[in-house]
Amino acid sequence: MVRKFLGDPTAPLALKRGDKVASPRGDGKPDPHQFGRVVDGWCDVADTGSGPYTTSYTVEMDGHPEGRFSVQEFGYVVLSDDDFVRLRLQRKWREGLLVRHRRVAERLEPGKTPSTAILVGTGSGEACEACDEPILPTHGKVSYTRASGPPMYLHRRCDELWDELEFGTS
Ligand SMILES: [Zn+2]
Repeated sequence: MVRKFLGDPTAPLALKRGDKVASPRGDGKPDPHQFGRVVDGWCDVADTGSGPYTTSYTVEMDGHPEGRFSVQEFGYVVLSDDDFVRLRLQRKWREGLLVRHRRVAERLEPGKTPSTAILVGTGSGEACEACDEPILPTHGKVSYTRASGPPMYLHRRCDELWDELEFGTS
């Protein structure tokens, strides 16, 4: 038996570094408390090349790089980009890093009316507060003014996902 590691082009691994996965809950849906990106992995193959017989991946917990967990073959759910943003939004709400009800409650001064969304069109490298990726000139951007401080910038897609999660609409 030979152990082959992630990054070795001859390793028959289904996932690669940076892939987004979650542990499954009992119902098979992604566990919102245990998801992140693959940072390492290995598998055992027979000397004859057959296999792999055992596969294991190390996953870095989203937002908590020190909190790594392992998943074995079939013991994970692969996340789409949208699913990843959904889980990340839920995590940030849970951890108090983002405020839900952003349209009505976010740091508004007494007597002020909530701001409305401003469609700016395209990004110029601002960080999206939902997914943390830069909003590039090829991306749609939505910005929300705040009572104080810089506006909140979101990818248009991330903004839609937020609305779906928070209001059940898009
Ligand atoms: Zn985004």
